[in-house]
Amino acid sequence: MKKINLVLATLFGSLLVLTGCSGTAGQGENQQGNADLVEVVATNSIIADIAKNIGGDKIDLYSIVPVGRDPHEYEFLPADVQKTSEADVIFYNGINLETGGNGWFTTLMENAGKVKDQDYFAVSDGVEVIYLEGTEEQGKEDPHAWLNLANGMIYAENIAKQLSLKDPENADYYEANLDSYLGQLRELDASAKEKFAALPDEQKLLVTSEGCMKYFSAAYGIPAAYIWEINTEEEGTPEQIQSLIEQLRASSVPTLFVESSVDARSMQTVAKDTGIPISEAKLFTDSVAEPGEEGDSYYSMMAWNFEQIAAGLAQ
Ligand SMILES: [Zn+2]
Repeated sequence: MKKINLVLATLFGSLLVLTGCSGTAGQGENQQGNADLVEVVATNSIIADIAKNIGGDKIDLYSIVPVGRDPHEYEFLPADVQKTSEADVIFYNGINLETGGNGWFTTLMENAGKVKDQDYFAVSDGVEVIYLEGTEEQGKEDPHAWLNLANGMIYAENIAKQLSLKDPENADYYEANLDSYLGQLRELDASAKEKFAALPDEQKLLVTSEGCMKYFSAAYGIPAAYIWEINTEEEGTPEQIQSLIEQLRASSVPTLFVESSVDARSMQTVAKDTGIPISEAKLFTDSVAEPGEEGDSYYSMMAWNFEQIAAGLAQ
């Protein structure tokens, strides 16, 4: 190495040597660094963010479904297959999210040659599953467990457990990150429960496009109503819209909500017909917000949702 540098110095002068040296050293470091990091793939932005909180700088993280997109149905790209093939560990939600609808995750795992509970793990393992109610979907699992923070804590625990198994040298690091992250989520959970308990009972109805709030409702004591049951079924048929409108006529709910990852037009029809306004603030249910915006992490999307729902229903 020294000899080459000397030759280069003689031939091309000091500037080129500096460039050459840093290039060589940089590449070496990168190769070394990447080899040390655990290659983690998460199926969506919410799971990726939880993994980032636990894995910190010990993991190299790739998230499949882009921010703001529906994770239920997705057409994976060649880059997704490549990243997944190279991954040390893959985290997915399970319970009928990526494995429901067009089953994109199952196909992706086959393409990437990955094995369940060896390479890929459902972060929802251990949550108390709630089942769908609609006639078409009845009996299937509702995937939206993360909308109850207590389940988000289970996700974080599952992620920490798998990272520690894949990378035992850093187990203490993952454990410490988990502890501090659980502390934050616990505090947010307690403050949300306090906020919602103060709302008048007759205004406690959370209206969204997709029926994604069942776990949320159970945890925070706010019943939910919706246009369609789950994003993998028909979204916003005239019958679905009419059925919600009739439900709302008998209620005194002050505000309707739209999620960031769905088409708002069906809810606009409901708002027009019932005269109930839609909150300008979109809820983050199936994706975090764009980077740099409020709600761009699991913690902050939940904090944002709590704040907007409590404010909307208090009116
Ligand atoms: Zn959903």
